[in-house]
Amino acid sequence: MSLYDVWSRGSRIFLSESKLSIDYVPRRLPHREDHLLKLAAMFKPMIREPGAMSQKVILLGPVGTGKTVVAKFFGSHVEAYSRREGLGIRYVHVNCHKDRTLFLIMKRVSEQLKLRIPRRGFSSRELMNIVWSTLESRNEYLLLTIDEADYLMNTSGSDAVYDLTRMSDEYTSSELRFNFIFVLRDASRLALLEECVRSSLLHNIIRFNPYTSKEIYDILAARVYEEEAMNPEAVGDEVLTLIGDLVGFDRGGRGDARQALEILWRAGKYAEAEGAARVMPEHVRRAYSDIYPQFPKEALNNLKRHELLVLLAIVRTLRSTGAAEAGLGEVEREYRAVCDEFGERPRGHTKVWEYVQVLKSMGIITARISGPGRRGKTTLVSIPSVPLDALERELLTKIGS
Ligand code: ADP
Ligand code: MG
Repeated sequence: MSLYDVWSRGSRIFLSESKLSIDYVPRRLPHREDHLLKLAAMFKPMIREPGAMSQKVILLGPVGTGKTVVAKFFGSHVEAYSRREGLGIRYVHVNCHKDRTLFLIMKRVSEQLKLRIPRRGFSSRELMNIVWSTLESRNEYLLLTIDEADYLMNTSGSDAVYDLTRMSDEYTSSELRFNFIFVLRDASRLALLEECVRSSLLHNIIRFNPYTSKEIYDILAARVYEEEAMNPEAVGDEVLTLIGDLVGFDRGGRGDARQALEILWRAGKYAEAEGAARVMPEHVRRAYSDIYPQFPKEALNNLKRHELLVLLAIVRTLRSTGAAEAGLGEVEREYRAVCDEFGERPRGHTKVWEYVQVLKSMGIITARISGPGRRGKTTLVSIPSVPLDALERELLTKIGS
């Protein structure tokens, strides 16, 4: 294949890969509408009467819960509204993972505002003064997001936050030009703040909870079907549900949307590399286990022979159907064939059901009772996190030996 072929041929799987990247800000943020409305309410004074007060808000929550994307989304809407109404509000987003000191933060702000900073050494204080007086001369206001503020507080203690938020007080004669959104992961950092800063921040906290499997599903579905990051024909509901189940907080996952997007992207890459027309559950399992290697080899050592045989039957049923889940009935049929193959007498239904519970309790498989849709109620089992190929090979060496 020539390089030209590689470039000229469109992907069957991806339509716009960059829309799955971490920095992309989508047009809609499912399950964060309330957070955005709260932000809008808290910053209403800044919009209605810029300069009358200096607002400070904290976005608090674990990684991957949408804090950064909510801040950026909000910032771009503030700027758009400000342009339309001629308010002169500028939004700047700084990440303390990169810029860990007050000085580096103010330098980044200056760059964003296109200030010309003379080269000679400045203190962070002086830089802040320059930014402030520039805003004053332009009659502009700043909404500054200090993202990953945990880092800033680690390196500079609470002084940096104090300096940032209290500086307005030194300009009592003039309008207040600075507004802040602090993004924090760890609530215990708040205790470090000086009392006067803390009290002005504490009632302006917006909390971000880990996403549930349903919420993860909705976020991925919006990215695929609304934003058209991927070919909708190539990504079925089943695949998105599977990722939701892997990542969802209610299913024991981290509830991290970044992780979910990464699994989806990687699964798409595997499908593409194979020349497959669709992303399949097996691509998702491989993607997940590549990112989070957790092949339960030790777990297999503790399984009894018939538990291994049932697990093998589940693997083979899932492989032959290519589906994310298998009904217990199908698994039992396969189990009898597997027993035949290894010269074992198959155990009855109740025993098989017990083996399934063991496998489930060890976290190797998931099992749930089917909802409406299938005939009657049946137990559906799934192996979300381990590639079936590798698992089958491992099982065969164990059972055969
Ligand atoms: P955090 O800053 O809390 O660690 P991010 O805002 O970086 O999380 O979100 C992680 C990834 O998931 C980003 O790519 C982001 O665009 C995406 N994301 C998070 N929440 C949502 C949501 N509600 N809707 C759409 N995409 C989201
Ligand atoms: Mg973030």
